[in-house]
Amino acid sequence: MNLRVRWQWLFLLGITGMAVAVLAQRTHTVKSGETLDEISKTYDLAIADIVGANEIANPNQLYVGQVLTIPAAPGSPVPYQVQSGDTLGEIALRHGTSVRGILDLNGLTDPNRLKPGQTLLIPAGGSTAAPPQFDLPAKLKAELDRISVSTKRWKYVVVHHSATTSGTIKGMDYYHRYKRRMKNGLAYHFVIGNGKGIPDGRIEIGNRWKGQLAGGHLASENLNYISIGICLVGNFEKDRPTEAQLESLTALIRYLNRRCAVSKTNVKTHREINPKNKPTLCPGKNFPASRMRG
Ligand SMILES: [Zn+2]
Repeated sequence: MNLRVRWQWLFLLGITGMAVAVLAQRTHTVKSGETLDEISKTYDLAIADIVGANEIANPNQLYVGQVLTIPAAPGSPVPYQVQSGDTLGEIALRHGTSVRGILDLNGLTDPNRLKPGQTLLIPAGGSTAAPPQFDLPAKLKAELDRISVSTKRWKYVVVHHSATTSGTIKGMDYYHRYKRRMKNGLAYHFVIGNGKGIPDGRIEIGNRWKGQLAGGHLASENLNYISIGICLVGNFEKDRPTEAQLESLTALIRYLNRRCAVSKTNVKTHREINPKNKPTLCPGKNFPASRMRG
């Protein structure tokens, strides 16, 4: 890490710290000569918000030393202190927001590095709002854009689970190449990690996508030729995909819908696309199929 990068980080930390301090402050002590108008502007609130929160009878009669309650601005991030045992997925779900939104707002990259006591800024969400749609990380999107894709060839996106608790690209590639004897190795075009082997929600681009090769994830060679295979690490007969995995999956599918003109109705689970005489449980009974077409 060079000095310039370090200064940028310090700057970011400073800004985040200041934002947390301002947001966490719930009271304001009136100073000599201050008006309600000035105070409301300081907190980016309407005068009525402060009047309402403090039951002020006459807004023109503040007194020096008066302690005002400052309500959270509507639509502004709120601070949250991480409790022991919290996961980012649960925190996001509880606040009606997304893992990606929290990571971005706090300048974080690793969803698995939460410390109890740490204060996070939570983007304004609310369970009544439609779930926010988050895009792919800019770096990954740029990497995907650089791959020259045969846009007319791909007809389906097929979602699988690894049926294992953990998984790495190297391990899955080894299994497909040597145990399953597929010369192109890793059978999927994309793998999405669950924090065990691959970071939670991380999208790995497989060599078959980089080289625009047929997948090896379906029993039919014809289907393999026209189906983009995405595998989520995990066994969703027993467990559930993480929130970060589902967010990454929907963002990736939206990208593939646009890039390859695959329609939403052609986004399938392995179970849905397999012929009746070859039934499979993949991607498991706990996989929420409605989320991937959302
Ligand atoms: Zn499968």
